Amino acid sequence: MGAGPSGLTLAWWLVEHGIPVTVLEREASIPRDMRASTFHPATLDLLAADGLAETLIERGTVVSRWQYLIHETRDCAIFDMSCLADVTAYPFRLQCEQFQLTELLAEKLISHPHCELRFSCELHNVSSEAEKVRVSYRDNGDQAEAECEWLIAADGASSQVRKSLGLEFSGQVFPKTSITLVLEHHFEEDIPNLLGVNYVWLPDRHYSLMRLRDTWRFTYSPEQDQNVDTALSDEVARAHVARVSARAKETTIRSRNYYTLHQRCLDNFCHGRIVFVGDAAHLNSPAGGMGMNSGIHDARSLADHLIPVLAGEDPALLSRYDRRRRTVAREEVQRLSSQNYRRHRETDAEKRRIIWGELQDTVSDPIKHRDYLLDAAMIRSREREQTIE
Ligand SMILES: Cc1cc2nc3c(=O)[nH]c(=O)nc-3n(C[C@H](O)[C@H](O)[C@H](O)COP(=O)(O)OP(=O)(O)OC[C@H]3O[C@@H](n4cnc5c(N)ncnc54)[C@H](O)[C@@H]3O)c2cc1C
Repeated sequence: MGAGPSGLTLAWWLVEHGIPVTVLEREASIPRDMRASTFHPATLDLLAADGLAETLIERGTVVSRWQYLIHETRDCAIFDMSCLADVTAYPFRLQCEQFQLTELLAEKLISHPHCELRFSCELHNVSSEAEKVRVSYRDNGDQAEAECEWLIAADGASSQVRKSLGLEFSGQVFPKTSITLVLEHHFEEDIPNLLGVNYVWLPDRHYSLMRLRDTWRFTYSPEQDQNVDTALSDEVARAHVARVSARAKETTIRSRNYYTLHQRCLDNFCHGRIVFVGDAAHLNSPAGGMGMNSGIHDARSLADHLIPVLAGEDPALLSRYDRRRRTVAREEVQRLSSQNYRRHRETDAEKRRIIWGELQDTVSDPIKHRDYLLDAAMIRSREREQTIE
């Protein structure tokens, strides 16, 4: 249910074990909207086995060093991921659009004998019974019904499965929203020492600049009380860009996107024969790029639990999937991404001074530096998961 990164990686890992899977996707093709751009080492390790990681690397940009940068002074705090080479085959952030992964998986699944990938199928109601799940959906506009043994809800942040079951999705909305532009300008020619991923502080605001092959993603926040249309307008967007590079002001804006940031989590990822993964189960700030990655980690964990259950083990085993991934969502992913959110967006001079001191302390101490990166690379959360019974 849902052909995003969580649903398709899970489908792939299941069909490769000979388990028949039907994926229902609301859209007519794989969505190409501007979403995740960062694949972390722990995720690339999971995608290594089938050559998926290598193909993504060919389509993306490898970023071994990334930084916090003070625009005016050029002071920087550089994180160098090469120190993780002993614990991952991929000691870098891969900057690559999430649709590169979903399109790649869809190509493989469409021709797979155990998979049926069906587009323009929008689920609207589910009910879980003792031995099966009933699903009603619109198939190219026509009403349809189906039954399955297990339903995996991978239908994203606005999950209709979640709504249909009436589940509470408790949490909060972050005060500041985000706007991301995709720009054709070569910022690296204007800004000395720019790396592939940069969290940039100006005196009264913040930006992030991330490289994706031949384009850059530029992210900013609307001013206090500014409405979205104004914040997205050409005039305002270009004024923000001009603050980091006057030359970039007239560059082509390939796309622009506005999004509200939520932090939410279900109280249980398993509801009878319906199991939740990815954004349908938990949401976090995109700061640090962990949402898609943790959805893929959910999918791997669920495959590891569901495969034995389908082979005859007690379905109660799935409650361990819930305990593991819900703990990681709340105590690792949400904690780290909200810490990133605060660090990136802080504008108070005194608080920034303290954060800057912490960052400098971290990058100058090899033990703290590695420790920080084990979290940021999502290696530690994968390790922690294995310790939860
Ligand atoms: C601007 C932005 C930048 C981000 N950057 C990063 C990043 O760098 N790294 C990172 O890890 N994460 C990032 N994220 C978060 C990441 O995009 C999400 O966490 C990720 O897409 C979640 O994957 P998913 O498969 O769980 O859900 P989705 O990607 O939302 O997929 C859900 C799928 O279900 C389909 N669907 C929905 N409803 C129905 C229905 N009723 N019936 C059938 N199908 C349905 C949808 O069409 C969609 O294809 C970012 C998000 C945003 C908005």
